[in-house]
Amino acid sequence: MGGQSQGMDSGGVRVAILGVAQDGGVPQAGCDCERCSAAQMDPSLRLHPSSIAILGEDGGLHLVEATRDVSQQLWIAATSLGMDGVASPKTVCLTHTHLGHIDGLGQFGKESMGLDSVPLLASSRVLDVVRARGLEAPFEATIVESNRPFTPSEGCGFRYTLLPVPHRDEESDTHAILISGPNKSLLFLPDHDHWGGTLGLYEAKDVKSWLLDLGVNIALVDGTFWDEGELPGRDMTQIPHPTVSKTLEIIGSKGPGDPDVIFIHLNHTNPLVDESSDQASRVRELGWGVARQSTVLEL
Ligand SMILES: [Zn+2]
Ligand SMILES: [Zn+2]
Repeated sequence: MGGQSQGMDSGGVRVAILGVAQDGGVPQAGCDCERCSAAQMDPSLRLHPSSIAILGEDGGLHLVEATRDVSQQLWIAATSLGMDGVASPKTVCLTHTHLGHIDGLGQFGKESMGLDSVPLLASSRVLDVVRARGLEAPFEATIVESNRPFTPSEGCGFRYTLLPVPHRDEESDTHAILISGPNKSLLFLPDHDHWGGTLGLYEAKDVKSWLLDLGVNIALVDGTFWDEGELPGRDMTQIPHPTVSKTLEIIGSKGPGDPDVIFIHLNHTNPLVDESSDQASRVRELGWGVARQSTVLEL
């Protein structure tokens, strides 16, 4: 129940990575693979679903995605950002309505945080789903138009732009979120189906030029699966994501002036979950990164 506090005014805009896993998290329900078993035994290996928080210039905290682990994730925000206590988010912004991205919305209501009128920033189709599931009570639904930069709250010092991306849009549409701070811009792109579709929407010729056109300095991109053979017995065409191997093939190695590309939204089967894996070394050798919980990025 209750209790609100605000973070200290840091004078800048900083982003904390609160979760790096795919919707199922690590351990994933019903899985006793080696990685999930290790995470069950050792809490330090557990991974929350993908989410970030932005601490604005005025000390307000802004949450992107509302995962079921939001209670622990608000602690990660408080500690990694050096706030003077756990704060309730000033706004919540959503990319889409697949389970792992919204299953924490209920935590904002009477049974837990007891908030009301928290601006919930999302596309109209996402807000329709939130309403249809009866989760809108703690929020003030705020429709965001695609491709239009806006300031989530006065004095925060950054802007959001929601960029449409193709992604199994059975229920709602899906957006990537561009966060433009005073010095740098960060793209949050946890889910999309394939680079061809995404680049096609923007008439971009390749990944790097798309990111440069958007003015992106740091890109947190869909790294769900390492490669095509990762889910034996499941039809991976039903859950399309560009694999990390494919993305690396497209972007090659980091050159001067290239943005930082950091892989996020890791499935429990993805070897990038292990920092010491050959695959994680490969990503680092090429000049890119793998997202880690509690990392803070300055914008
Ligand atoms: Zn997801
Ligand atoms: Zn597993």
